[in-house]
Amino acid sequence: VNDLHTWFELRQWGFLRVGAVRAVDGVSFTLARGEAVAFVGESGCGKSSLARTLLGLHRPTRGEVLFAGRSLGGLTARELKAYRAKVGYVQQDPFGALPPFMDVRHVLAEPLIVQGVKDRAQREQRIRAALDEVRLSPAEEFLPKFPHMLSGGQQQRVVIARALILEPAMIIADEPVSMLDASVRVEILNLLRHIQSQRELTLAFITHDLSTVRHYAERIFVMYAGRVVESAGVNELLDHPQHPYTQALLAAIADPDAANAAKQRVVPRGEPPSLLHPPRGCRFHPRCPHAMAGLCDVDEPPDFEPRRGQYSACWLHR
Ligand code: SF4
Ligand code: MG
Repeated sequence: VNDLHTWFELRQWGFLRVGAVRAVDGVSFTLARGEAVAFVGESGCGKSSLARTLLGLHRPTRGEVLFAGRSLGGLTARELKAYRAKVGYVQQDPFGALPPFMDVRHVLAEPLIVQGVKDRAQREQRIRAALDEVRLSPAEEFLPKFPHMLSGGQQQRVVIARALILEPAMIIADEPVSMLDASVRVEILNLLRHIQSQRELTLAFITHDLSTVRHYAERIFVMYAGRVVESAGVNELLDHPQHPYTQALLAAIADPDAANAAKQRVVPRGEPPSLLHPPRGCRFHPRCPHAMAGLCDVDEPPDFEPRRGQYSACWLHR
């Protein structure tokens, strides 16, 4: 991903241009085959827009996404279809992701049909294998069921099976457990991680919750206001956070008051900035306890490498 920008034009009454929402605003990274990474940040930091741009659902405003060396922008319609088969998508809301009047068999048959698998017996075999892989068994019990007949966890397993059925090289999972009961979250995350390592898939896991990523990702990208502010191996990042925003996220998790509160606080105090008018200089400066007047509110910090392989966009490292 090279200098990616995904902006959305905002119009009032459909025609009056208000400005551009800079959902993704200058992001670059490389993912290796078989790697499990997480993009972490508060809601409204651009994570989902990044995911959807990687999936080819949004066209970048600037910059590009390359897959196996080819830019998505240069693909023909047919090539884009082949690309979509290689990248599976697991959304936040499994019920919303499943067509309500389609039983599990048809949900799983559809991508195969779209990709031209004409043989019915072959489709049936792949559908059963996919259900087996997400541990919905016996298959006979689940094949005729409609989404409303399944629990949230079972629905998400069907969504994962659908993402796997075309044997993708990569899975993008956008908050895959945030709408599920706490009791099934770990199961679903473990399942994704298991499938990822078994199949040597690339897994891009998107979450607002830094406390869950240690077991599910090897590398973390912390996003703030459309940018990646820190990236590193998971242990380095969690044990030696360098960027004040990452430190604030971790402090929010560790806050004993928050732990006692009914709803655990997983975000730092203050509001994330508007992506329509992001703050000048470092975007975190209005919330940053270390902000230096005349520098942080004026000039954008570049990426520094305060520890080997750990990148942080903060003037403190200069
Ligand atoms: Fe805080 Fe300045 Fe670093 Fe931004 S650049 S995180 S405002 S110290
Ligand atoms: Mg989102």
